[in-house]
Amino acid sequence: MKKIAFFCIPAHGHTNPMLPVAAELVKRGDTVRFYSFNEFGDKIKTTGAEFISCDAYLPELTEQEASGLKKVSTTEMAVQDLRITRNMDAFLDGEFQVFRPDVVYSDSACFWGKLNAWKHNVPLVVSTSTFAFNQMSSQYMKNSPGELADMVLGLPRVSRELKALAPYGYHVKSVFTLIASDNQTDSVVYTSRRFQPYAESFSDHYAFVGPSVFSKAAPDKEKARPLVYISMGTVINDRPDFYRKCIEALKTQAVDVVISCGNAIDREALGALPDNIRVYPYVDQLDILSKADAFITHCGMNSVSESLYMATPMVLYPQTNEQQAVARRAKEIGAGVMLADDSVDGIRSAVRELLDSGAYAAAAKACGADFRACSGTAGAADYIENAPHASDGVDVIRDLNASGTRFQILYWLAVIIAVNLLRFAAGWRFAWIIAVAAGILYTPISKKQQKMKYASLVKRIGK
Ligand code: UDP
Repeated sequence: MKKIAFFCIPAHGHTNPMLPVAAELVKRGDTVRFYSFNEFGDKIKTTGAEFISCDAYLPELTEQEASGLKKVSTTEMAVQDLRITRNMDAFLDGEFQVFRPDVVYSDSACFWGKLNAWKHNVPLVVSTSTFAFNQMSSQYMKNSPGELADMVLGLPRVSRELKALAPYGYHVKSVFTLIASDNQTDSVVYTSRRFQPYAESFSDHYAFVGPSVFSKAAPDKEKARPLVYISMGTVINDRPDFYRKCIEALKTQAVDVVISCGNAIDREALGALPDNIRVYPYVDQLDILSKADAFITHCGMNSVSESLYMATPMVLYPQTNEQQAVARRAKEIGAGVMLADDSVDGIRSAVRELLDSGAYAAAAKACGADFRACSGTAGAADYIENAPHASDGVDVIRDLNASGTRFQILYWLAVIIAVNLLRFAAGWRFAWIIAVAAGILYTPISKKQQKMKYASLVKRIGK
């Protein structure tokens, strides 16, 4: 029997997939201590795990910081993560001494879980509630100019917080080592290898166990008329404007509609509801998805996974770069349409497209079958109980980086030689033209080289 310490940030989307895993471990007789926050206490206790409240260690937020978190600013999240780590240091030193966990199971964005596993030399398994993101799969994310500015301008703040952690025994070179998925850390990812973008670039340290859900019920779509479900998730769901447009778009259609709008919305603000539309602050999403024929979603990883698990095609309406990546993959497998035009007409025609063509539902069903064939929560529990894991040593990313460095050296060497030859043969003017052209062409050529090398590495390892 193992003692396992679970750590998660205060977010439903990150906590939810860890719950069935906790329940499975408890069922097997392992002792699970789940370090989380009061908002999640009740659902953690229902798994049989021991809930340890960490609310006392949440920093006081200024108005600006609170608004940054609400907007899912990467900088603000990293800064607050690092502050919580500092606040929890003495408490967790005591906990690790008394509880003596055999394994730490920490959410990928939960710095204090990861850092304390390293500090106390306890095997770490990372719970990845989104896709696993490395330099290949993160190409699926498109950062908006605002997101890029937030990251770049926030770097000095983040590095100040990182420096402040050093005296506590946490030595981290860069925040990226805390965020990115690397090929040396044992990780559980709640999707299938087939749905994960660039799955071949992840080493044997990754267990792709499929969506972590409590309900194993099969989809049941039999009913008088189609059901459309709408949710913007649990974080950025304060969107009365969007819900109003959905209501307007679907009120005259021969469909039933359920909207989960979160607690932040005054439901009166949505006006009088037509007979075919019901609005709730929170619903049993898996149950509704098992019956739904279309899902208008913000493309949180859990929502999309649950939708595919329940064979429901989606209208994809991503709001962040991470959701953009999930949406892109769902579209790629043919299980959804992107909501490029979020007007009343745009929403109506996207929903009609899903309902009128069986192709989207068929693609969702095929992906759902693939998910159900994964090892699931039992697989995740096995993986955690048996950590740390060895790997067969194949590391596509390491080989790709080595080849990238070689290419870079050869490219610039060739440019220097060409520029010098031209300088002697035809003078500086031509040499400069070549130098500038080489500079401009470097990025597209090196990207092409990376793609070709990746394809040949994947072929070589036969994945
Ligand atoms: N959820 C739910 N009922 C609701 C709205 C959401 O049970 O009314 C659950 C949903 O099933 C999913 C999670 O909340 O597991 C949302 O996670 P996701 O990653 O989709 O989005 P986030 O809320 O993190 O943006």
